[in-house]
Amino acid sequence: MKKFSLMLLLLLFVLVLPEHGHAAAANSKIYLDGKEITAGQKVPVENVNDTIMVPLRLISESLGYTVGWDQKSKTVTIEQQGKVIKLIVNQKTASVDDKTVQLTTAPVLRSDTTLVPIRFISEQFGLTVTWDNAKKIVYLITPGSSNENGSSNGNSGNGGSEVVVPPVDPTKNLTMINGLSFSENRLSIAMEGNSEPKVSVMTGPDRLVIDFPNATFSDLFGTGQVLDPDLNGKLEVKDYPDVSGVRYSLYSSNPYTVRFVIDLNYPKNYNISVSGTDSKLVIIDLNAESTDDTSTQPGNDGKKLVVLDAGHGAKDSGAVGVTGKYEKNFNLAIVLKTAALLKKESNIDVVLTRSDDTFLELKDRAAMANNLKADLFISVHANSSASSAASGTETYYQREASKALAKVMHKYLVEATGLSDRSVRYGNFHVIRETKMPAVLLEVGYLSNKKDETLLFTEALQNKVAASIVSGIKEYLGIK
Ligand SMILES: [Zn+2]
Repeated sequence: MKKFSLMLLLLLFVLVLPEHGHAAAANSKIYLDGKEITAGQKVPVENVNDTIMVPLRLISESLGYTVGWDQKSKTVTIEQQGKVIKLIVNQKTASVDDKTVQLTTAPVLRSDTTLVPIRFISEQFGLTVTWDNAKKIVYLITPGSSNENGSSNGNSGNGGSEVVVPPVDPTKNLTMINGLSFSENRLSIAMEGNSEPKVSVMTGPDRLVIDFPNATFSDLFGTGQVLDPDLNGKLEVKDYPDVSGVRYSLYSSNPYTVRFVIDLNYPKNYNISVSGTDSKLVIIDLNAESTDDTSTQPGNDGKKLVVLDAGHGAKDSGAVGVTGKYEKNFNLAIVLKTAALLKKESNIDVVLTRSDDTFLELKDRAAMANNLKADLFISVHANSSASSAASGTETYYQREASKALAKVMHKYLVEATGLSDRSVRYGNFHVIRETKMPAVLLEVGYLSNKKDETLLFTEALQNKVAASIVSGIKEYLGIK
């Protein structure tokens, strides 16, 4: 939760590297229809607020579009087949054939190079764009090029036929699939849009196929999950006897369809629910007894539902400790241990916002708890301070309704860490502000402090903290 120190770190980075201040720049690659178009050259690709920015010259040289540059007004003109796009450096408004459009990120100048948002430009001309954050690769697919997908394992049904990517019509309002996670025998898929998922039960081998019509993967999806050049990927699922894995692909691009396949070890019933308004969460729940039985939805069986939230994840490491340990890993370890203990409680259901190294937006974490109508929300973090002497345990609440929970949780947490008691505090953090149930954020200790960091990454301390969270939950809920 230490945004300030992260900013400071980024700032230092920029100061240390005055020429090319971005780490991703040196080894980013761009592929067009499967061929690298950046071979042998250093392309300063940047990821600015999840928008991939590339040099303007790449647009002209590699994509063959006509590019103009007006130095005085800092205006870029890009022309192709009669369509004209105008962008201005540092301005978020652009024009497409004289119609004004909003950009999420403005073009920027880096010494003598103008960087422009590749997705926006490519999609205007009908290309499909994905970004593999792990490998720092931009994939561009031109309309009409062949792109096999959805059939790499031979059993998702389309028989390997070629799929032609048509131009993306921006007025078509494609649903964007932003992420997925699998925990508690539930597949959760985050999306923005109105796509209505359809589930088909398949046999030989047993599997559930979930199709999202009029949908595609967003840039964000590739930052949290593996997505190969053909827009296929797989999520390994461990510890759930019913499920061997989850596959996903852009199954078709004409019409656009994203497909998820849950590979089952034997036939299994499911429940599907969609909740949320702007950003939505689709949950395919395998805990159901029958397809029309809603009594086994989390929290609907008289049990209390606790949502545990491991802060940060994937590209967002959270605080970095004195010896370089990541906060995201500590948070996840605590949450997994706590969930394991809570599973033994017959009166408590538990759902994790993430159960692996996945990136989730803060709003999606809060939405998950709200959509599930959870009884409690507990977010686990570790702190960081510019002062290496800072040490101790804090518990945060944002709404009055959460104060009593904070007091109970803090009592057990401080006892478990044995660190100095830095008290229950008010903190205006998104996840505890936007959730609707009692919600707290635990800052277990300070990773910027040598002693705290060492302690926080010991098995013994983590077990104690997990047990203390369970004790706090039980006391607050009045469960013996
Ligand atoms: Zn944090």
